[in-house]
Amino acid sequence: MDEPILVLQPGRERSLQRRHPWVFSGALGRMQGRAGSGDTVVLASADGTPFGRASYHPKASILARVWTFDPDERVDGAFFARRIAAAVARRAHLAARTDAARLVFGESDGLPGVVVDRYGGWVVVQLGTPGADRWRREIVEVLAALPGVHGVYERSDTDAREREGLATRVGVLAGAEPPERVEIVEDGCRHLVDVRHGQKTGWYLDQRDNRAAVAREAAGRRMLEVFSYSGAFGTAALAAGAADVVSVDSSGPALALAAEERRHAGLPTGTLVEADAFKDLRQRRDAHERYDLIVVDPPKLAPRESYLERASRAYKDINWLAIRLLAPGGLLATFSCSAAMSAELFQKILFGAATDARRDLQIVQRLGPAPDHPVLLSFPESDYLTGLLLRAL
Ligand code: SAH
Repeated sequence: MDEPILVLQPGRERSLQRRHPWVFSGALGRMQGRAGSGDTVVLASADGTPFGRASYHPKASILARVWTFDPDERVDGAFFARRIAAAVARRAHLAARTDAARLVFGESDGLPGVVVDRYGGWVVVQLGTPGADRWRREIVEVLAALPGVHGVYERSDTDAREREGLATRVGVLAGAEPPERVEIVEDGCRHLVDVRHGQKTGWYLDQRDNRAAVAREAAGRRMLEVFSYSGAFGTAALAAGAADVVSVDSSGPALALAAEERRHAGLPTGTLVEADAFKDLRQRRDAHERYDLIVVDPPKLAPRESYLERASRAYKDINWLAIRLLAPGGLLATFSCSAAMSAELFQKILFGAATDARRDLQIVQRLGPAPDHPVLLSFPESDYLTGLLLRAL
């Protein structure tokens, strides 16, 4: 059977030669043979030379996503078994610190559209493209066979999936249904994860090293955790001896989970505040409150490049408020998870915020994602999380 071949426009193979794994719709020269949504196609340059295989999505602006740059490599069950096994092996060193990790991070692990997170005995899968959807059964088979896995659960309920024109899919894929709360342990601290209803796949695994950086500084400090979600930064800080933690988030269920997790870990609950962070911080500023340690971890304020200007103003505003709330010698751990926001621009925004707040700040440490969320050099889109640990003089 002849495979369908996607032949590119002359010159349009250049970004792919640099191993950027996306083919945009404008790069299409012609299709040889028939291919439907999610089908695997051979990629060929304009002169007909095949150079890899990709999943095809005829109606999307990202027309194809590369599975392999090796024209001799087949895309089949064995391909997924190999790629997943390699990705899992790269995370093996994390087992000494935690039983929760991202096992597969999409393009960065050579599996576009596939995200796999592990929380103890439970594996959560997020499939974001028709190509990933097509191989659900093969992917799940590999994951269900990993040692110690009780069940594989799907959380394909992302905006990205909606943009791809795919319906939401949530539910058990293999094994047992996960409990309402999954206990995980990270750096000796117990946390509770809601894999069925929580945000993303249930938790922010990417902040692991930054939680550790904050916890190292937490002993005896009064902490304010802004955009707390289930309060993981605060819980880690409390376990490390923080004097008090105020957690602010707009989500009631997230704060309820924070209370539960701290009770479960035998820690004080701290103060949980359901509010809009921008308003809440203004009130704290007006009340002249001061904190020794502040974490600011907003949602993706710039989902796309076109939002960057407006988002920059919001990042500046929230950080300006946070800086005003810092006690002398206080620390601010501040983040952006917008891929459109570069580390360089983020630092400039913090500089602007500090200037307006008339405070001198030092960079103590540059922060980024934990190593189970590696950035692929050829795919800058995977470089989304940036942060700074700053000290107020
Ligand atoms: N720091 C968290 C992750 C934060 S994700 C962790 O490490 O687990 C961003 C959070 O911001 C979400 O929990 C979301 O509910 C919350 N959020 C979004 N908009 C908000 C707003 N205007 N005010 C307060 N919280 C908001």
